[in-house]
Amino acid sequence: MPYKVLVIPGDGIGPEVVEAALYVINATARKYGVELELKTAEAGDVALRKYGVPMPPETLSLADAADAIFKGPIGESAYDVTSFFRMRYLLYANIRPVKSLPGATAIKEIDCVFVRENVEDVYVGAEYRVGDVAIALKVITAQGTRRVARVARRYAEMRRRKVTIVHKANVLRVVDGLFRDVAMEELRGLEVEQVYVDAAAMELVRDPLRFDVVLTTNQYGDILTDLAAQVAGGIGLAPSANIGDSKAMFEPVHGAAFDIAGRGIANPIATILSAAMMFEWMGREDAASAIRRAVVESLKRGIKTPDVGGNSKTIEVGKYIAALTEAQ
Ligand code: ATP
Repeated sequence: MPYKVLVIPGDGIGPEVVEAALYVINATARKYGVELELKTAEAGDVALRKYGVPMPPETLSLADAADAIFKGPIGESAYDVTSFFRMRYLLYANIRPVKSLPGATAIKEIDCVFVRENVEDVYVGAEYRVGDVAIALKVITAQGTRRVARVARRYAEMRRRKVTIVHKANVLRVVDGLFRDVAMEELRGLEVEQVYVDAAAMELVRDPLRFDVVLTTNQYGDILTDLAAQVAGGIGLAPSANIGDSKAMFEPVHGAAFDIAGRGIANPIATILSAAMMFEWMGREDAASAIRRAVVESLKRGIKTPDVGGNSKTIEVGKYIAALTEAQ
């Protein structure tokens, strides 16, 4: 049975980086004999302009039928597409590996994986305004914490068996306290440390190598992963996966970057490494590793976009990494 993958190019630089990544996906599937059934559909600002809605019904039924969604960034309507999919399919774990790569100017060496809770916290959308008072609810559940902590445990077991729980339970004693307590329980038997979110931001810049697997709540993870991506050499290199029990979605960490859209200079590596995460999720670590090696080689040889000091075009980088993957 082939894996059904819905491809959503998205907005801004999305279509450019997704096109480049598709060269790599197709070459990898060919080389490693992974059966994929790829379909493409529109969502986001581009769909809003064309059809009046950011999530056309046809896109939604294709997404419902797919095993995985592979998408580019979405612009102004990100909440109606990205957040919507996370909630609809209960993609409760957001995995963001952060690793400094050769040939990209990292601020400091870093090699960790963020496991960010993805469907709770202040992003549940429970916001209220009563006159001059605005209230947002921060929702953390034991069940939600338990399932994401289990994902962190799986990653820790594949790595150094060390997890850092990031929270702010000294101030948010009840909500962050629950997250901390349940996470501690689930991670028993591993080396576990706790770091307050403000200290974590500082430590990610001061001594990033002290982190291996980082487990945190939705909002803290949102902020810290952008910071960590910058430490690793830029947002154009940072991939992500959104994992649930029956479906997953893969996308670059960066946004639509309208400032450079249409110029063919966007870095496709974040999207290509997200494709590697998709192959890993399909149980094809061999294919995923081949893509990662090809990315490193391409950077080393200087076939890279301007944001990481090169002068290659988005598509050239995609084709080059595809060829290197296939040649292994
Ligand atoms: P959002 O609100 O959706 O996160 P944003 O414009 O605030 O969008 P990004 O789109 O992530 O944030 O971009 C921030 C900056 O980083 C952009 O100005 C862009 O120039 C640069 N950038 C982001 N992604 C890439 C990429 N893939 N290649 C090169 N530069 C990028």
